[in-house]
Amino acid sequence: MSDKAVYQGLCSICGKKGEFAPREGYGTRDSYLCPHCRASLRWRDQAALILDEFGRGLSISLANLVASGRLDTIDILEPALKGPFVNAFRNLPRYVRTYYWPEKALGEKDANGVRNEDITRLTFADDSFDLVITSDVIEHVYDYKAAFAEILRVLKPGGIHVFSIPTDWPLPEISEARVRVVDGVEEHVKPARYHISGDGTPCIVYTDFGADLIDVIDAQGRSRSQAVRRHSALDPCYRTATFVTRKLR
Ligand SMILES: [Zn+2]
Repeated sequence: MSDKAVYQGLCSICGKKGEFAPREGYGTRDSYLCPHCRASLRWRDQAALILDEFGRGLSISLANLVASGRLDTIDILEPALKGPFVNAFRNLPRYVRTYYWPEKALGEKDANGVRNEDITRLTFADDSFDLVITSDVIEHVYDYKAAFAEILRVLKPGGIHVFSIPTDWPLPEISEARVRVVDGVEEHVKPARYHISGDGTPCIVYTDFGADLIDVIDAQGRSRSQAVRRHSALDPCYRTATFVTRKLR
C-alpha cells in the first residue's frame, strides 16, 4: 500500500464500519477519520486499549461499552474540555474532567463540572482512579516527570494510564526539550511549536518524546509501560503509537 492508502475498518469508538482515508494536510495519527463519528486514528487507538481493559471481550466499541454500564463503577480521570472521550463519557457517574486555569483555585469546578487541576500537583487522593486518559496533553507540560509521577500516585494499584503524545515510529532514542526554563524565563531550544488547546488558545510544545520516556515513567519501579501500535499491519497507520502505563499492585 502507498502512503495514500485507504482501508475498510471498524471504529473502536462508535462501532460503525466504513472506509478510513488519509486527510490532506494532517499527519497520520490525526488523519484516517471515522466516516461516521469523525474520530481520528490516535483517538480510536486509545479507545481500543480502553475497550480491551474494561470490555471483558463483550464490547466492540466504546459506545457499546458505555451503554453496557460496565464503566459505571470505573473511576476515570481525563484532563480535557472536548474530544471523543468527553462526548462518550460525560454522563458516566464516575468520570472526572479537569482543565488547568492557572488563575483559578485548584480543585474548583466550573459551571460544566470541569475541575481546575494542575497535572503536576493534583488535588486527588492517592489510589483514586482506575483509568487516567491524557490525549496529547503531556507534551504541553514543562515538568512532565512530575506529571507522570502524579498520575501514578492517583491511579489505583492495577489501574492504567492511556495516553497519546506526538510521535513517529520508530521513536527517537532520547527525548529532547524544545524549551528550557532559565531563572523562570522560557528559552527556545528548538523553533517554537504550538498546538491549539481545548479552549482554543495556542499551547506550546515543551518536549519531543523518545523511547526513554518509558524508562522515565517506570523509574520508580511502581509501573509497567508499553508503546502499543494498534494498526501495526497497516501502512502508514503502523507509525501511530499509543502508550499505556499500568500501576503495579
Ligand atoms: Zn466512529
